[in-house]
Amino acid sequence: MSQHKTINLDDEIYRYLLSHSVHESEILNELREETSRQSLSRMQIAPDQGQLLSMLVRLCNARKAIEIGVFTGYSSICIAQALPEDGALIACDISEEWTTIASKYWQRAGLSNRIDLQIAPALQTLKKLLDMGEQSSFDFAFIDADKENYLAYYEACLQLVRKGGLICIDNVLWSGKVLETEDQDDETRAIQELNEHLFSDDRIDLVMLPVADGISLAMKK
Ligand code: SAM
Ligand code: CA
Repeated sequence: MSQHKTINLDDEIYRYLLSHSVHESEILNELREETSRQSLSRMQIAPDQGQLLSMLVRLCNARKAIEIGVFTGYSSICIAQALPEDGALIACDISEEWTTIASKYWQRAGLSNRIDLQIAPALQTLKKLLDMGEQSSFDFAFIDADKENYLAYYEACLQLVRKGGLICIDNVLWSGKVLETEDQDDETRAIQELNEHLFSDDRIDLVMLPVADGISLAMKK
């Protein structure tokens, strides 16, 4: 087993990985810098993960995407910049404060026209899209908001993406807390439930990547 196990990334080797793969744009770099002054800066995705999102969006030739959990906009820039000129990203969040920062950077990156920000509980926005008949019309989804709703977000996204569309779910290893078997908090339990649900879901092909805090890729069959 050990010879096939993913390499353990200590700080030095992670620095090597970053310095040999990540080309972070000046705008994303400034956004990371500005976000680092926020108390909840750790919520932002990692730069290597951002690049992975951009590549995944391109790989599935996505034109229409949805993001659940915008925060200060790092992942939305990574997704939107990989869409074609006439592409669209529906960006869901409940925070005016954080998404004001996001909007500023979307503007600077010339991506505002591709991003449709929906300030409302994401379940409401997803339901609205389904009520509007948007089933199977999206190519890509990224789920990175309140963990208690992960399963509901996944089920709604599965209806919204087309066959061959990709749903990416962040924090599926939850700093290792997924191993806990007793007295788990609500977030941990929600992630454990989603992981079990994904594993037994024959409507998708599944990959769990040990990137950052763990990211699962679910491709709709
Ligand atoms: N993807 C972001 C990035 O790259 O910086 C990080 C997202 S952060 C982990 C989670 C976000 O989910 C927060 O901005 C929070 O306001 C938002 N959120 C929490 N509950 C929500 C809900 N019910 N509906 C929509 N967004 C929600
Ligand atoms: Ca996250």
